[in-house]
Amino acid sequence: MSTAPHASQRAARTGNDEFLLTPGPLTTSLTVKQAMLRDWGSRDKKFIALNARIRDKLVQIAGGGSDYTCVPVQGSGTFAIEATLGTLLPRDGRLLVLVNGAYGERMMKIAKYMGRSAIALSCAEDRTPDLTSLETLLAEDAAITHVAAVHCETTSGILNPIRKIADIVVKHGRGLIIDAMSAFGAIPLDVGEVTCDAVVASSNKCLEGVPGMGYAIIRRSVLEGCEGNAHSLALDLYDQWRGFEANAQWRFTPPTHVLAAFDQAVAEFEEEGGVAARNGRYSENRRTLVAGMREMGFETLLPDELQAPIIVTFHMPADPKFDFAAFYDKLAARGYVIYPGKLTVAPTFRIGCIGQLQKQDMEDALAVIRETVDEMGVKLGALAGT
Ligand SMILES: *Cc1c(COP(=O)(O)O)cnc(C)c1O
Repeated sequence: MSTAPHASQRAARTGNDEFLLTPGPLTTSLTVKQAMLRDWGSRDKKFIALNARIRDKLVQIAGGGSDYTCVPVQGSGTFAIEATLGTLLPRDGRLLVLVNGAYGERMMKIAKYMGRSAIALSCAEDRTPDLTSLETLLAEDAAITHVAAVHCETTSGILNPIRKIADIVVKHGRGLIIDAMSAFGAIPLDVGEVTCDAVVASSNKCLEGVPGMGYAIIRRSVLEGCEGNAHSLALDLYDQWRGFEANAQWRFTPPTHVLAAFDQAVAEFEEEGGVAARNGRYSENRRTLVAGMREMGFETLLPDELQAPIIVTFHMPADPKFDFAAFYDKLAARGYVIYPGKLTVAPTFRIGCIGQLQKQDMEDALAVIRETVDEMGVKLGALAGT
Protein backbone atom coordinates (compact mmCIF):
# COMPACT_ATOMS: atom_id res chain seq x y z
CA MET A 1 0.00 0.00 0.00
CA SER A 2 1.48 3.35 -0.96
CA THR A 3 1.35 6.28 1.40
CA ALA A 4 -0.72 9.30 0.46
CA PRO A 5 1.10 11.88 -1.63
CA HIS A 6 2.55 14.99 -0.01
CA ALA A 7 1.96 13.83 3.58
CA SER A 8 4.77 16.00 4.94
CA GLN A 9 3.57 19.15 3.15
CA ARG A 10 0.10 18.44 4.43
CA ALA A 11 1.37 18.30 8.01
CA ALA A 12 3.36 21.51 7.57
CA ARG A 13 0.33 23.37 6.24
CA THR A 14 -2.29 22.06 8.60
CA GLY A 15 -0.56 20.25 11.47
CA ASN A 16 -2.71 17.22 10.62
CA ASP A 17 -2.03 13.68 9.49
CA GLU A 18 -5.31 13.72 7.62
CA PHE A 19 -7.30 15.98 5.36
CA LEU A 20 -10.96 16.30 6.29
CA LEU A 21 -13.04 16.24 3.12
CA THR A 22 -16.07 16.96 5.26
CA PRO A 23 -18.56 19.83 5.64
CA GLY A 24 -17.18 20.98 9.01
CA PRO A 25 -15.49 20.62 11.34
CA LEU A 26 -12.99 20.83 8.52
CA THR A 27 -9.27 21.18 7.88
CA THR A 28 -7.97 24.45 9.30
CA SER A 29 -4.55 26.02 8.77
CA LEU A 30 -1.69 25.47 11.18
CA THR A 31 -1.71 29.20 12.00
CA VAL A 32 -5.41 29.08 12.96
CA LYS A 33 -4.60 26.26 15.38
CA GLN A 34 -1.54 28.10 16.71
CA ALA A 35 -3.71 31.12 17.57
CA MET A 36 -5.18 28.97 20.37
CA LEU A 37 -1.87 28.50 22.19
CA ARG A 38 -2.58 31.02 24.92
CA ASP A 39 -5.30 31.74 27.45
CA TRP A 40 -7.43 34.84 27.48
CA GLY A 41 -9.23 36.47 30.36
CA SER A 42 -12.77 37.19 29.23
CA ARG A 43 -12.51 40.77 30.63
CA ASP A 44 -9.10 41.35 28.99
CA LYS A 45 -9.06 44.53 26.86
CA LYS A 46 -7.36 42.76 23.94
CA PHE A 47 -9.91 39.98 24.03
CA ILE A 48 -12.76 42.50 24.08
CA ALA A 49 -11.22 44.24 21.05
CA LEU A 50 -10.87 40.86 19.29
CA ASN A 51 -14.59 40.18 19.80
CA ALA A 52 -15.58 43.59 18.48
CA ARG A 53 -13.36 43.07 15.43
CA ILE A 54 -14.90 39.69 14.64
CA ARG A 55 -18.47 40.98 15.04
CA ASP A 56 -17.78 43.95 12.75
CA LYS A 57 -16.10 41.83 10.10
CA LEU A 58 -18.91 39.26 10.04
CA VAL A 59 -21.43 42.04 9.38
CA GLN A 60 -19.17 43.31 6.58
CA ILE A 61 -18.85 39.85 5.01
CA ALA A 62 -22.68 39.73 4.91
CA GLY A 63 -22.70 43.11 3.16
CA GLY A 64 -24.46 44.72 6.11
CA GLY A 65 -23.95 48.28 7.30
CA SER A 66 -24.89 49.88 10.62
CA ASP A 67 -28.45 48.62 10.16
CA TYR A 68 -27.22 45.06 10.97
CA THR A 69 -25.51 43.67 14.03
CA CYS A 70 -23.73 40.37 14.68
CA VAL A 71 -24.73 38.40 17.75
CA PRO A 72 -22.49 35.41 18.48
CA VAL A 73 -23.52 32.52 20.70
CA GLN A 74 -21.61 29.64 22.30
CA GLY A 75 -22.12 26.18 20.78
CA SER A 76 -22.40 24.62 17.35
CA GLY A 77 -24.38 26.00 14.42
CA THR A 78 -27.62 24.43 15.62
CA PHE A 79 -27.40 26.47 18.85
CA ALA A 80 -27.27 29.64 16.75
CA ILE A 81 -30.22 28.51 14.61
CA GLU A 82 -32.29 27.67 17.67
CA ALA A 83 -31.31 30.96 19.33
CA THR A 84 -32.21 32.98 16.23
CA LEU A 85 -35.57 31.29 15.67
CA GLY A 86 -36.43 31.57 19.37
CA THR A 87 -35.44 35.22 19.57
CA LEU A 88 -36.97 36.47 16.32
CA LEU A 89 -40.24 34.54 16.39
CA PRO A 90 -42.83 35.99 18.73
CA ARG A 91 -44.49 33.37 20.97
CA ASP A 92 -47.61 33.66 18.80
CA GLY A 93 -45.61 33.75 15.55
CA ARG A 94 -45.89 31.13 12.83
CA LEU A 95 -42.92 29.77 10.90
CA LEU A 96 -42.87 28.41 7.37
CA VAL A 97 -39.79 26.26 6.76
CA LEU A 98 -38.60 25.38 3.25
CA VAL A 99 -37.42 21.80 3.58
CA ASN A 100 -35.25 19.89 1.10
CA GLY A 101 -32.92 18.15 3.50
CA ALA A 102 -31.97 17.42 7.11
CA TYR A 103 -31.23 21.01 8.08
CA GLY A 104 -34.67 22.24 7.01
CA GLU A 105 -36.16 19.30 8.95
CA ARG A 106 -34.08 20.32 11.95
CA MET A 107 -35.61 23.81 11.95
CA MET A 108 -39.08 22.19 12.03
CA LYS A 109 -37.96 20.11 15.00
CA ILE A 110 -36.59 23.20 16.77
CA ALA A 111 -39.92 25.01 16.28
CA LYS A 112 -41.75 22.03 17.80
CA TYR A 113 -39.41 21.95 20.83
CA MET A 114 -39.93 25.69 21.32
CA GLY A 115 -43.68 25.31 21.08
CA ARG A 116 -43.93 27.64 18.10
CA SER A 117 -46.45 27.10 15.34
CA ALA A 118 -44.69 25.88 12.18
CA ILE A 119 -45.43 24.35 8.80
CA ALA A 120 -43.10 22.90 6.20
CA LEU A 121 -43.06 23.33 2.46
CA SER A 122 -41.15 20.19 1.53
CA CYS A 123 -39.67 18.79 -1.63
CA ALA A 124 -37.21 16.02 -2.57
CA GLU A 125 -33.59 16.41 -1.52
CA ASP A 126 -32.42 16.75 -5.11
CA ARG A 127 -34.91 19.54 -5.90
CA THR A 128 -35.12 23.21 -4.98
CA PRO A 129 -38.25 24.54 -3.23
CA ASP A 130 -41.30 25.22 -5.37
CA LEU A 131 -41.53 29.00 -5.48
CA THR A 132 -45.11 29.06 -6.77
CA SER A 133 -46.23 27.07 -3.73
CA LEU A 134 -44.30 29.49 -1.52
CA GLU A 135 -46.22 32.41 -3.07
CA THR A 136 -49.54 30.61 -2.61
CA LEU A 137 -48.86 29.66 1.01
CA LEU A 138 -47.86 33.20 1.95
CA ALA A 139 -50.89 34.64 0.15
CA GLU A 140 -53.33 32.20 1.77
CA ASP A 141 -51.95 31.77 5.29
CA ALA A 142 -51.95 35.22 6.90
CA ALA A 143 -50.78 33.76 10.22
CA ILE A 144 -47.29 33.01 8.85
CA THR A 145 -44.95 35.66 10.30
CA HIS A 146 -41.56 34.23 9.24
CA VAL A 147 -40.00 32.03 6.59
CA ALA A 148 -36.84 29.99 7.22
CA ALA A 149 -34.68 28.79 4.33
CA VAL A 150 -31.35 26.99 3.96
CA HIS A 151 -28.88 28.61 1.54
CA CYS A 152 -26.77 25.52 0.76
CA GLU A 153 -28.51 22.36 2.03
CA THR A 154 -25.49 20.40 3.16
CA THR A 155 -27.51 17.17 3.17
CA SER A 156 -27.14 16.97 -0.61
CA GLY A 157 -24.93 19.99 -1.39
CA ILE A 158 -27.74 21.70 -3.30
CA LEU A 159 -27.78 25.47 -3.74
CA ASN A 160 -31.21 26.91 -2.99
CA PRO A 161 -32.40 30.03 -4.89
CA ILE A 162 -32.09 32.29 -1.86
CA ARG A 163 -32.49 35.57 -3.74
CA LYS A 164 -35.75 34.52 -5.39
CA ILE A 165 -36.99 33.22 -2.04
CA ALA A 166 -36.11 36.54 -0.36
CA ASP A 167 -37.89 38.55 -3.07
CA ILE A 168 -41.10 36.55 -2.54
CA VAL A 169 -40.93 36.80 1.26
CA VAL A 170 -40.36 40.57 1.09
CA LYS A 171 -43.20 41.02 -1.39
CA HIS A 172 -45.52 39.34 1.11
CA GLY A 173 -44.19 41.40 4.03
CA ARG A 174 -42.85 38.49 6.13
CA GLY A 175 -39.50 38.04 7.85
CA LEU A 176 -36.84 35.75 6.34
CA ILE A 177 -34.31 33.80 8.43
CA ILE A 178 -31.51 32.21 6.40
CA ASP A 179 -29.51 29.18 7.54
CA ALA A 180 -26.34 30.06 5.61
CA MET A 181 -24.20 27.79 7.76
CA SER A 182 -22.36 25.93 5.00
CA ALA A 183 -22.37 28.84 2.52
CA PHE A 184 -21.34 31.90 4.51
CA GLY A 185 -18.03 33.30 3.28
CA ALA A 186 -17.93 31.12 0.17
CA ILE A 187 -21.18 31.81 -1.66
CA PRO A 188 -22.00 35.49 -2.12
CA LEU A 189 -24.89 36.69 0.02
CA ASP A 190 -25.35 40.42 0.44
CA VAL A 191 -28.09 41.47 2.84
CA GLY A 192 -28.35 44.71 0.85
CA GLU A 193 -29.69 42.62 -2.05
CA VAL A 194 -31.09 39.53 -0.39
CA THR A 195 -33.45 41.16 2.08
CA CYS A 196 -33.73 39.19 5.31
CA ASP A 197 -34.09 39.58 9.06
CA ALA A 198 -31.18 37.29 9.88
CA VAL A 199 -28.37 35.22 8.39
CA VAL A 200 -27.04 32.43 10.61
CA ALA A 201 -23.65 30.68 10.35
CA SER A 202 -20.87 29.20 12.48
CA SER A 203 -17.12 29.39 13.05
CA ASN A 204 -16.20 26.00 11.63
CA LYS A 205 -17.40 26.03 8.03
CA CYS A 206 -16.30 28.19 5.09
CA LEU A 207 -14.52 30.78 7.23
CA GLU A 208 -12.27 27.88 8.28
CA GLY A 209 -12.22 28.37 12.03
CA VAL A 210 -12.54 25.71 14.72
CA PRO A 211 -15.93 24.60 16.10
CA GLY A 212 -17.56 26.08 19.19
CA MET A 213 -19.40 29.23 18.14
CA GLY A 214 -22.35 30.24 16.00
CA TYR A 215 -23.57 33.71 15.10
CA ALA A 216 -26.45 35.56 13.55
CA ILE A 217 -26.26 38.75 11.56
CA ILE A 218 -29.56 40.40 12.42
CA ARG A 219 -31.34 43.50 11.21
CA ARG A 220 -31.05 45.91 14.12
CA SER A 221 -34.60 47.29 13.80
CA VAL A 222 -35.96 43.73 14.04
CA LEU A 223 -33.81 42.73 17.01
CA GLU A 224 -34.84 45.85 18.92
CA GLY A 225 -38.40 44.52 19.01
CA CYS A 226 -37.50 41.01 20.19
CA GLU A 227 -37.35 41.47 23.95
CA GLY A 228 -39.20 38.70 25.75
CA ASN A 229 -39.61 36.40 22.73
CA ALA A 230 -36.98 33.82 23.70
CA HIS A 231 -37.90 30.62 25.52
CA SER A 232 -34.36 30.18 26.84
CA LEU A 233 -32.02 32.51 28.73
CA ALA A 234 -28.79 31.03 27.30
CA LEU A 235 -30.21 31.21 23.75
CA ASP A 236 -31.76 34.68 24.02
CA LEU A 237 -29.96 36.68 21.33
CA TYR A 238 -31.78 39.86 22.35
CA ASP A 239 -30.29 39.61 25.85
CA GLN A 240 -26.93 38.55 24.43
CA TRP A 241 -26.94 41.61 22.18
CA ARG A 242 -27.93 43.96 25.03
CA GLY A 243 -24.97 42.51 26.95
CA PHE A 244 -22.55 43.33 24.12
CA GLU A 245 -24.04 46.79 23.72
CA ALA A 246 -23.70 47.47 27.45
CA ASN A 247 -20.06 46.43 28.03
CA ALA A 248 -18.78 44.66 24.89
CA GLN A 249 -18.54 41.43 26.86
CA TRP A 250 -20.17 38.02 26.68
CA ARG A 251 -22.89 37.36 29.27
CA PHE A 252 -21.55 33.90 30.08
CA THR A 253 -18.11 32.26 29.66
CA PRO A 254 -17.01 32.91 26.07
CA PRO A 255 -15.28 30.21 23.97
CA THR A 256 -12.03 32.21 24.19
CA HIS A 257 -9.78 29.87 22.19
CA VAL A 258 -12.39 29.41 19.49
CA LEU A 259 -12.64 33.19 19.16
CA ALA A 260 -8.87 33.63 19.00
CA ALA A 261 -8.68 31.01 16.25
CA PHE A 262 -11.64 32.59 14.47
CA ASP A 263 -9.99 36.02 14.54
CA GLN A 264 -6.98 34.48 12.79
CA ALA A 265 -9.22 32.56 10.36
CA VAL A 266 -11.07 35.75 9.38
CA ALA A 267 -7.73 37.55 8.85
CA GLU A 268 -6.59 34.68 6.56
CA PHE A 269 -9.93 34.82 4.75
CA GLU A 270 -9.40 38.53 4.02
CA GLU A 271 -5.80 37.93 2.99
CA GLU A 272 -6.95 35.30 0.50
CA GLY A 273 -9.33 37.81 -1.09
CA GLY A 274 -12.65 37.38 0.71
CA VAL A 275 -15.77 35.68 -0.61
CA ALA A 276 -14.74 35.88 -4.30
CA ALA A 277 -11.38 34.18 -3.72
CA ARG A 278 -12.79 31.50 -1.44
CA ASN A 279 -15.61 30.82 -3.88
CA GLY A 280 -13.00 30.53 -6.63
CA ARG A 281 -10.83 28.05 -4.71
CA TYR A 282 -13.75 25.90 -3.58
CA SER A 283 -15.27 25.95 -7.09
CA GLU A 284 -12.00 24.73 -8.54
CA ASN A 285 -11.87 21.98 -5.89
CA ARG A 286 -15.38 20.93 -6.85
CA ARG A 287 -14.65 20.93 -10.60
CA THR A 288 -11.51 18.86 -10.06
CA LEU A 289 -13.30 16.42 -7.76
CA VAL A 290 -16.38 15.97 -9.93
CA ALA A 291 -14.40 15.59 -13.17
CA GLY A 292 -12.04 13.03 -11.60
CA MET A 293 -14.81 11.02 -9.96
CA ARG A 294 -16.88 10.95 -13.16
CA GLU A 295 -13.84 9.82 -15.09
CA MET A 296 -13.58 6.83 -12.72
CA GLY A 297 -17.29 6.07 -13.23
CA PHE A 298 -18.85 7.60 -10.11
CA GLU A 299 -22.06 9.58 -10.53
CA THR A 300 -23.15 12.75 -8.77
CA LEU A 301 -26.63 13.05 -7.26
CA LEU A 302 -27.11 16.58 -8.55
CA PRO A 303 -26.82 18.13 -11.99
CA ASP A 304 -23.99 20.68 -12.10
CA GLU A 305 -26.32 23.68 -12.17
CA LEU A 306 -27.80 22.81 -8.75
CA GLN A 307 -24.46 21.85 -7.17
CA ALA A 308 -22.91 24.30 -4.68
CA PRO A 309 -19.09 24.33 -4.40
CA ILE A 310 -19.30 23.04 -0.82
CA ILE A 311 -19.90 19.31 -0.72
CA VAL A 312 -20.68 16.79 -3.47
CA THR A 313 -23.01 13.80 -3.08
CA PHE A 314 -22.11 10.66 -5.05
CA HIS A 315 -24.26 7.59 -5.63
CA MET A 316 -22.94 4.38 -4.12
CA PRO A 317 -21.64 2.17 -6.94
CA ALA A 318 -23.90 -0.78 -7.74
CA ASP A 319 -21.03 -3.33 -7.61
CA PRO A 320 -21.51 -5.41 -4.39
CA LYS A 321 -17.71 -5.36 -3.97
CA PHE A 322 -18.07 -1.69 -3.01
CA ASP A 323 -18.30 -1.74 0.78
CA PHE A 324 -18.57 1.87 1.97
CA ALA A 325 -17.22 1.22 5.49
CA ALA A 326 -14.10 -0.46 4.06
CA PHE A 327 -13.73 2.28 1.41
CA TYR A 328 -13.98 4.95 4.12
CA ASP A 329 -11.40 3.23 6.37
CA LYS A 330 -8.92 2.71 3.53
CA LEU A 331 -9.13 6.36 2.47
CA ALA A 332 -8.80 7.56 6.07
CA ALA A 333 -5.73 5.34 6.56
CA ARG A 334 -4.19 7.10 3.55
CA GLY A 335 -4.97 10.56 4.90
CA TYR A 336 -8.36 11.45 3.40
CA VAL A 337 -11.47 11.48 5.56
CA ILE A 338 -14.72 11.53 3.54
CA TYR A 339 -18.32 11.74 4.74
CA PRO A 340 -21.25 9.33 4.77
CA GLY A 341 -24.50 10.20 2.98
CA LYS A 342 -27.53 11.59 4.78
CA LEU A 343 -30.11 11.22 2.05
CA THR A 344 -33.42 9.45 2.22
CA VAL A 345 -33.82 9.24 -1.57
CA ALA A 346 -30.76 7.12 -2.45
CA PRO A 347 -27.70 5.37 -0.94
CA THR A 348 -24.91 7.92 -1.27
CA PHE A 349 -21.68 9.26 0.20
CA ARG A 350 -20.29 12.78 0.27
CA ILE A 351 -16.96 14.48 -0.35
CA GLY A 352 -16.37 18.05 0.81
CA CYS A 353 -14.55 20.78 -1.14
CA ILE A 354 -14.15 23.24 1.73
CA GLY A 355 -11.47 23.94 4.34
CA GLN A 356 -7.71 24.22 3.77
CA LEU A 357 -7.86 22.31 0.51
CA GLN A 358 -6.43 23.21 -2.87
CA LYS A 359 -6.77 21.75 -6.33
CA GLN A 360 -3.62 19.64 -5.79
CA ASP A 361 -5.15 18.15 -2.63
CA MET A 362 -8.24 17.13 -4.58
CA GLU A 363 -6.02 15.53 -7.25
CA ASP A 364 -4.13 13.67 -4.54
CA ALA A 365 -7.42 12.53 -3.00
CA LEU A 366 -8.56 11.30 -6.43
CA ALA A 367 -5.35 9.30 -6.86
CA VAL A 368 -5.93 7.64 -3.49
CA ILE A 369 -9.59 6.93 -4.34
CA ARG A 370 -8.55 5.36 -7.66
CA GLU A 371 -5.97 3.19 -5.92
CA THR A 372 -8.51 2.12 -3.28
CA VAL A 373 -11.20 1.25 -5.82
CA ASP A 374 -8.68 -0.87 -7.75
CA GLU A 375 -7.54 -2.60 -4.61
CA MET A 376 -11.15 -3.44 -3.70
CA GLY A 377 -11.70 -4.75 -7.22
CA VAL A 378 -14.77 -2.55 -7.68
CA LYS A 379 -16.12 -2.15 -11.20
CA LEU A 380 -17.47 1.36 -11.62
CA GLY A 381 -19.92 2.68 -14.15
CA ALA A 382 -22.54 0.05 -13.28
CA LEU A 383 -25.01 2.80 -12.51
CA ALA A 384 -24.48 4.32 -15.92
CA GLY A 385 -24.92 0.90 -17.50
CA THR A 386 -21.51 1.05 -19.16
C1 LIG B 1 -23.44 22.48 9.73
C2 LIG B 1 -24.81 22.98 9.45
C3 LIG B 1 -25.68 23.36 10.52
C4 LIG B 1 -25.30 23.26 11.96
O1 LIG B 1 -24.91 22.00 12.36
P1 LIG B 1 -24.09 21.82 13.71
O2 LIG B 1 -23.78 20.36 13.69
O3 LIG B 1 -24.96 22.21 14.83
O4 LIG B 1 -22.89 22.70 13.61
C5 LIG B 1 -26.91 23.90 10.17
N1 LIG B 1 -27.29 24.03 8.91
C6 LIG B 1 -26.51 23.67 7.88
C7 LIG B 1 -27.01 23.87 6.48
C8 LIG B 1 -25.25 23.13 8.11
O5 LIG B 1 -24.46 22.76 7.08
